[in-house]
Amino acid sequence: MSNALPKLAIVIPCYNESEILPLTLEKLSEYLQTLRLSHKIASDSFLYCVDDGSDDSTWHIISTWHKKHPDIKGLKLTRNVGHQNTILAGLLHVKNKVDCAITIDADLQDDITAISRMLDCFGEGNDIVYGVRQSRHQDSFLKRMTAQIFYKVMKRSGADILYNHADFRLLSNRAILTLSRFKERNLFLRGIFPLMGYPVAKVYYDRTNRTAGESKYTLRKMLALAWDGVTSFSHMPLSFILTLGTISFFLSILMVFFVLGAKFFATTVPGWTSIMIPLCFMGGIQLLSIGIIGEYISKVYTEVKRRPRFIKDEELS
Ligand code: UDP
Ligand code: MG
Repeated sequence: MSNALPKLAIVIPCYNESEILPLTLEKLSEYLQTLRLSHKIASDSFLYCVDDGSDDSTWHIISTWHKKHPDIKGLKLTRNVGHQNTILAGLLHVKNKVDCAITIDADLQDDITAISRMLDCFGEGNDIVYGVRQSRHQDSFLKRMTAQIFYKVMKRSGADILYNHADFRLLSNRAILTLSRFKERNLFLRGIFPLMGYPVAKVYYDRTNRTAGESKYTLRKMLALAWDGVTSFSHMPLSFILTLGTISFFLSILMVFFVLGAKFFATTVPGWTSIMIPLCFMGGIQLLSIGIIGEYISKVYTEVKRRPRFIKDEELS
């Protein structure tokens, strides 16, 4: 990019957000205007609202605002596909139309003034700028606890995700293009960006309370997201079976000796030996076999994801 001002799209996933959306649109367009006037972004920058199959008046609000303000654009999905896929839909639709895009939740729990600092980092040559929450005391105890456990599990399973970063981030057009090459269906965006290897920066901000409406992340959706995170990024659960199988196989061999010893050197009930030996042995061998099959499945699983095997940085030609 040359010296021209970057064209920005702010992508906002919206699911049943009619209560708060007018306020959000007002604040964001105001902020967009401030950024334009301070020559941080190109004048044709815009807001991009993605309606994730809402069943309230969310889409109606988006389309009325669009008529009044042409810089508020929208996309309506046919049905609810969840937060992650909604963000993806928005990003893929603004791909190649902008220099960078920022994703932000419709409830404005994330501090919009961080956007200006994100743009500064983008100007310094970073392709991805993560918004990182400084504090979480606004969240409920349950939410904080589950988040803590989640980050720990993810770290153990090898996914390099950033602590306290949700889906408030800036992406360069190049990062969006690369994102489009990740073909997985079980989408966990937070895990994908660190895999790209592009220059990244962090911007810290305070997270506030939702001012209206309710959290659309029910405990069930949250657990589903966490489970997607673990199972789309690691083989750990499968490898665990193999370890368990190997251990129990060797234990079962020891058990066979123990059972035979008990039969010959102590008194046992008739029939006990002939039940115990197959029981231990079969149990051990079955778990071991499942573990081995699991290893093959994990290979198949990596293959079918068809993730890009490398990502080009620059080419001299
Ligand atoms: N959202 C969505 N589809 C869903 C659930 C949520 O697009 O199925 C959007 C929602 O409108 C909001 C963002 O994702 O803009 C985050 O949701 P929410 O604020 O309810 O989550 P929390 O902040 O409680 O984690
Ligand atoms: Mg929220």
